[in-house]
This record gives sequence, structure tokens and C-alpha cells, in this order.
Amino acid sequence: VIRCRAAVAWAVGKPLSVEEVEVSPPKAGEVRVKIVATGICRTDDHVLEGCFPNVVFPVIPGHEGAGIVESVGEGVTSVKPGDKVIPLCLPQCGGCSFCLNPESNYCLKSHVSEPQNLLPDKTSRFTCKGKQIHHFLWVSTFAEYTVMPEYAVAKIDAAAPLDKVCLLGCGFPTGYGAAINTAKVKPGSTCAIFGVGGVGLSVVMGCKAAGASRIIAIDINKDKFAKAKELGATDCISPHDFKKPIQEVLTEMTGHGVDYSFEAIGHVDTLTAALASCNMNTGVCVMVGLPASGSVISIDPMLLLSGRTWKGTLLGGWKMRDCIPTLVSSYLEKKFNSDVLISHTLPIAKVNEGFELLRAGK
Ligand code: NAD
Ligand code: ZN
Ligand code: ZN
Repeated sequence: VIRCRAAVAWAVGKPLSVEEVEVSPPKAGEVRVKIVATGICRTDDHVLEGCFPNVVFPVIPGHEGAGIVESVGEGVTSVKPGDKVIPLCLPQCGGCSFCLNPESNYCLKSHVSEPQNLLPDKTSRFTCKGKQIHHFLWVSTFAEYTVMPEYAVAKIDAAAPLDKVCLLGCGFPTGYGAAINTAKVKPGSTCAIFGVGGVGLSVVMGCKAAGASRIIAIDINKDKFAKAKELGATDCISPHDFKKPIQEVLTEMTGHGVDYSFEAIGHVDTLTAALASCNMNTGVCVMVGLPASGSVISIDPMLLLSGRTWKGTLLGGWKMRDCIPTLVSSYLEKKFNSDVLISHTLPIAKVNEGFELLRAGK
């Protein structure tokens, strides 16, 4: 058993509390990882607010990390102690019907099908003050040591800087993949991205890499526009600067609406606006943001009947275990610069400050 620090969420609506926790050794088929760095994704904030479905408290959140294998359980062959890895918040068991489908990046072992609050044998590896603490998406990267099944971890290049490539655990691949895998943005096309936080900026990078000629960033926080422009946005607009609905503004700016629209906020109103912003026939709208659990959207069916495509994406469509190591190699080859997304670096003791910066739009 390892004693280390972790940021524990004891109850909905409470700040995280940095505690000493006990982390049991990995059982058969499991891997214990020393987490070196973790990002804060808005999804972790949805967990703290109680808006992420089927999370059980107390829980150790965090799902965008990178680390080093500390020990492995019986039968583990794909990683060994000392290997650099990225924990996968969307696992790839390799055996379910979705994993076996080359067109899918979903896995039936993921939280959407069956909550990942406990490891597959229905027990936890974490305790704190004598209480069992739950895992989050099996990865719980807000702990200095964490245990997950072998199929929820990907070995990456030994040269990878863990404090940078942790972003390849969620935010960057989600946005980048939403553009290149889910929407399949074509060269010369027009794109609109609603919300340019970490995920939305990664969509901008994906649209740029795919050769889009016009990339319109939409955000209510104008401080986000400098980075959006640096990464390839050609226009940056705030809905607050217009009297008419933003979908009408975008339709006027582009003639008939954009070819591809992306929602990277997670509100029902911006999801609907993004759908109406792509052109009525060949337009594709990708839902990336995570609406609060239980949300319902009502739309005019003509929006879809005229031919529009509305799709969602989990982690940008990547089969995580196969693709994350390749993305890390592409990062090392400087094919994209996800470092631009890093705004602050803090020690674990200041994790709540990190969330305050996120909520303040910084
Ligand atoms: P973030 O908070 O950094 O970014 C959200 C941005 O939206 C901010 O810049 C904010 O100013 C802007 N915004 C808020 N309300 C707006 C409005 N009404 N109009 C325009 N802009 C508005 O969050 P993030 O970490 O980039 O995550 C974005 C969303 O993606 C979250 O909902 C998160 O849960 C979700 N997410 C989904 C997946 C997936 O697999 N689909 C993966 C990661 C994150
Ligand atoms: Zn995330
Ligand atoms: Zn599977």
C-alpha cells in the first residue's frame, strides 16, 4: 500500500480537499501509475457540481493525466514499471463489439454504458480516513498514485515530457479529433467553433490542420480571442456584440451557414445555435460540450429534415489505446503545438486555485 496525496471530492458542491490517501497494489490485470502531471478539464468541474452522470462520492476526480508505471498486477504484459503512460478515460478493452468495430472509438466498458466508479471487480483501490473513496472513469488523475485496468492505459514514447503530454489524455485529442475524425473537415471549408476554452482551441487547431479556409471562433470571453487567432481562427466574435441570435449572424457572414459547426461549451442553447449555424443541407454540427445530466433539447425538425447532420463525439473519435501513443509521437515531431493550451502550472496543494482560474475564464 502506498500513502500519498490526492484531491478528494467528499460531496457535491464542496471544494476538493487534498488528503493523504492509501492506494492498494494493483490486482491481476491492473496497473498502478505514479501521476506526474494532470490537466483540469471542464468535465472535472461538472463532476464537482454534480452535473456529470452517475458519479458516486467521495471520489478522486481528474482524467487528463500522464505518469510512470510503478507496479503491475499479475498477467499484465503491455506495460512494465518505469514505462511512461497516459491513463485513458475512455478505455479500449479490445474485446467488445464496439472495440472490434474499426469505425468506432467507443468501448462497452466505459462510464456511459456502466459507471466506472469502482474497478471492474467492483472494489476500490483508494481509502482515506478509513473510508472507501471512488474512482473516476477508472483513472482518478488527481491522485499521486492511481490504479486502473491495463486496457485503460497507453504506453507512450519515453521521450515525452509528461507535464505537457498530459493534455493528450482528454482536451487536446477531443477537440482536434472532433474536427479531423468526427466532422472530417475538408480543405477550403468554413468552420465555426462555439466556446474556445481548452477543447474549443483544440478544435481550431484541428480545423486549421484539415485546411479550413475560414475558422470563426465564438466566445463570450474576449480574452480567449488572442490564442484562437494565434492557432488559426480567422474571425472572432462575441454573441454579446449582436442584437440578433448568433446563428443569424453566422448565416449572414457566410451566405448560407458554415460547413462545420462545433459546440465546445455544453449548454443546450449554444448546442441549438450551433446546429442552426451550419448550412441547411450539407452542414455538419458536432456536439463536443457536455450538457448537464438530464438536459433536454427541443429543436425545429426542419433543421434536420433539410439534410443537416448532427453528431456527437467522445474524445474526438480516437480509439484511445491505439491512437494516443501515435498522437504523442506526432507531438514530439512538432506536428501540432498543444503546449499553447497550458495557461498555468500549479502544485497539487493548489488544485482549488486551478478550478477558480478555470471558472474565471483564465
Ligand atoms: P472551458 O471552460 O475551458 O471552455 C468553455 C468556453 O466556453 C469558455 O471559453 C467560455 O468563455 C465559453 N462560453 C461559455 N458560455 C458561452 C456562451 N454562452 N457562448 C459562447 N461561449 C461561451 O471548458 P473546456 O475544458 O474547453 O471544455 C468544454 C466542454 O467540453 C465542457 O462541457 C467539457 O465537459 C466538454 N468535454 C467533452 C469531451 C467529449 O469527449 N465530448 C471531452 C472533454 C471535454
Ligand atoms: Zn476531459
Ligand atoms: Zn471494449
